Amino acid sequence: MSARLDQIIATRIRQDVQSMHAYAVQDSRGMIKLDAMENPHRLPAQLRKELGERLAEVAINRYPGDRVGDLKQALAKHAKLPAGCDLMLGNGSDELISLLAMACDVPGATILAPVPGFVMYAMSAQLQGLKFVPVDLTPDFELDEKAMLDAIALHQPAIVYLAYPNNPTANLWNDAIIEKIVLAAPGLVVIDEAYLPFSSKSYLDRLARHEHVLLMRTLSKFGLAGVRIGYMMGRRELIAQVDKVRPPYNISVLNSEAALFALEHEDVFAQQAADLRAQRARVQDTLATLPGAQSWPSDANMILVRVPDPARTFEGMKARGVLVKNVSKMHPLLAGCLRLTVGTAEENTQMLSALQASL
Ligand code: PMP
Repeated sequence: MSARLDQIIATRIRQDVQSMHAYAVQDSRGMIKLDAMENPHRLPAQLRKELGERLAEVAINRYPGDRVGDLKQALAKHAKLPAGCDLMLGNGSDELISLLAMACDVPGATILAPVPGFVMYAMSAQLQGLKFVPVDLTPDFELDEKAMLDAIALHQPAIVYLAYPNNPTANLWNDAIIEKIVLAAPGLVVIDEAYLPFSSKSYLDRLARHEHVLLMRTLSKFGLAGVRIGYMMGRRELIAQVDKVRPPYNISVLNSEAALFALEHEDVFAQQAADLRAQRARVQDTLATLPGAQSWPSDANMILVRVPDPARTFEGMKARGVLVKNVSKMHPLLAGCLRLTVGTAEENTQMLSALQASL
């Protein structure tokens, strides 16, 4: 790098960006990839072929248009969008989280979320120059009612994020506490249902009761992580405001066509999710018999497990070809913890034996 470029970076790129770490994606080539809560199942061969034919017909010379509208309609139907509500699309829910920070960036605005939680809530605040207020969960990963209500009263947040179920703790939170938080929040409350396909509950039926609540979802865990489609539902007037900061054409023609195709074959994905829920139960049963490993209930396609030496176990599993996520340094409440994504039956067998051998 030349001295000139060095100087441009030092003086023109934001200081906080210079000292940030980029979002790290682990190299997973040749590994059993159980680090990012992806659906491990591919589409059946016949459907892959049909998808290829559909994509071949897409006019990639044109900007995205009508088919994105079709996708919004298909998602509204798929999600049973309540009356009076609308839906907007993001390039993954990650983009929706960034757009919300942008839309709510009034002087002094704050984003509040329980921690440990999904890192993008804090990152969106930091990048947009908003203050992030983390509120610790209780040691059993429940919302700390008093701490949350006190922090809301003190900081008057523009946005409160509640992941339902949470990442990486994989649990749903107490509904009575959520209700109190929703009633106390002076700004927006976003219920993030990224793990809906594996969850025993949804907030959807409660959405229409609260005008300031947004429900965020994604097709990533459904089985389309590579397609990058997130969506957010809420009162029509509120969605209309947030939608103004969305870059034009944020959803590609190929992505929208692939998502439409997937929604036409919803049953295939529902079957895959059912298989993963059954696999989750099996992995949990085995973990419960492993001496030295403590695990928690899960309403998502991940399981948190505490081991005596997480770095050694992580490396040992990696050496045996299994990639999981070491979250032990993310937050003091996660000391000793690894996050395991639920895979196929075969992957889980290998993951469990790698774990056992690496404890
Ligand atoms: N919300 C939560 C709680 C997540 O864990 C994730 C991804 N792991 C996301 C949102 C983002 O999902 P995507 O951008 O793939 O839609």
